[in-house]
Amino acid sequence: MASSSLRFAQPTFPNSILKTKTNTFFVSKSVFLTPVPNKGKASNAHAITKLACVNKTTEIAACNQIIGDVNAKLTPLRIGIIGFGNFGQFIAKGLRRQGHFVLATSRSDYSEYCKQNGMQFFRNMDALCEEQPDVILVCSSILSTENIIRSIPIHKLKPDTIFADVLSVKQFPRNLFLEILPPGFGIVCTHPMFGPESGKNGWNGLPFVFEKVRVTDTGAQAEKCTQFLDIFEQEGCRMVEMTCEEHDRHAAGSQFITHTIGRILSHLNLESTPINTKGYETLLQLTENTISDSFDLYYGLFMYNVNATEQMDNLDRAFETVKQKLYSRLHDILRKQIVERVPMQGELRTKSTNSLSYLPDGESIKKLASLSMSEIKLSEAVTVSSPR
Ligand code: NAP
Repeated sequence: MASSSLRFAQPTFPNSILKTKTNTFFVSKSVFLTPVPNKGKASNAHAITKLACVNKTTEIAACNQIIGDVNAKLTPLRIGIIGFGNFGQFIAKGLRRQGHFVLATSRSDYSEYCKQNGMQFFRNMDALCEEQPDVILVCSSILSTENIIRSIPIHKLKPDTIFADVLSVKQFPRNLFLEILPPGFGIVCTHPMFGPESGKNGWNGLPFVFEKVRVTDTGAQAEKCTQFLDIFEQEGCRMVEMTCEEHDRHAAGSQFITHTIGRILSHLNLESTPINTKGYETLLQLTENTISDSFDLYYGLFMYNVNATEQMDNLDRAFETVKQKLYSRLHDILRKQIVERVPMQGELRTKSTNSLSYLPDGESIKKLASLSMSEIKLSEAVTVSSPR
């Protein structure tokens, strides 16, 4: 049983003790449902393990019943998604799974899709904002986000509306929100570190990065923020709270590098072979995943993350280093052959020939060297190195 299924979406549920046949549960205000074994209150982790061990069926059933009761008291959130493309639709499904209302608007018309999936589509931002959703979730491309956010009719929204985003860069939307939104609006910057491909079989265990940039400590906004974040927790995501700066630093060194390698590989037109190794399969998969994302997304990762250029330079240097390592060895071999084939005055020819016996023959060297060393006079090198 996943620990996340023990979580309440409602943080204000009062502390209380709940008894089942074989165990006692402490419903804590910090949203964990914590069993209390005989020796008093246990840690959450311990408690969850304990729950899973004790009388599996009955306890879990009882526990789900309790959760159901608590969740029943919650009003589902009304979440307005702006940008309903590839990722917007993907995340909307998760919001619906958790019982929340999805309202959407986008440049293109997705009304048919929404109708079929129990969501509401609005042809423009005004119409969406008039509905006064609890949360506005920005899922537009990184490149279009500034224009989009600046064109939101903020005055039509409730003064405590929470703004969240899912952009794959974080400092940029955070700064934009802080600049544009009135002080009463909540701001939560998030980055689900998965997408329609990697999250197609569920979100369990996948990292969800977030920073509560500006949210009240108490009251309706605080509760709605917790309720919003709880959606991802309930789906099993690994919740990672970090600042937008930290995110961008880590993401440039991991996600941006991954996308870049995938993009480079896509230019090699790699194909499956009858002798694929596991490593090669991974590369094919990486290529496929990368190119299923729009180029706009990749370009956004580069343009809007201050750390991306440095990583690009690092990658370039690393490639050069590896090339140099290979070619310098090749160069050494060639040089040795050139130098050693000329017998020292008075030395026996047989000695010179024997010392070269470990070297590849002239034809192989010619092939190897032609890969890189155009500046070396290969024909000369090979001619002189051939045993006479
Ligand atoms: P994307 O190409 O980054 O964004 C597509 C979305 O942006 C669509 O909703 C599109 O609207 C909208 N859009 C693009 N240009 C626009 C313009 N000039 N004016 C108005 N709207 C415009 O692809 P995506 O994969 O759907 O990503 C959306 C967001 O999610 C991005 O910020 C990305 O960083 C983030 N994200 C993506 C993933 C992923 O795996 N794909 C994972 C985590 C986070 P229309 O569809 O109406 O044209």
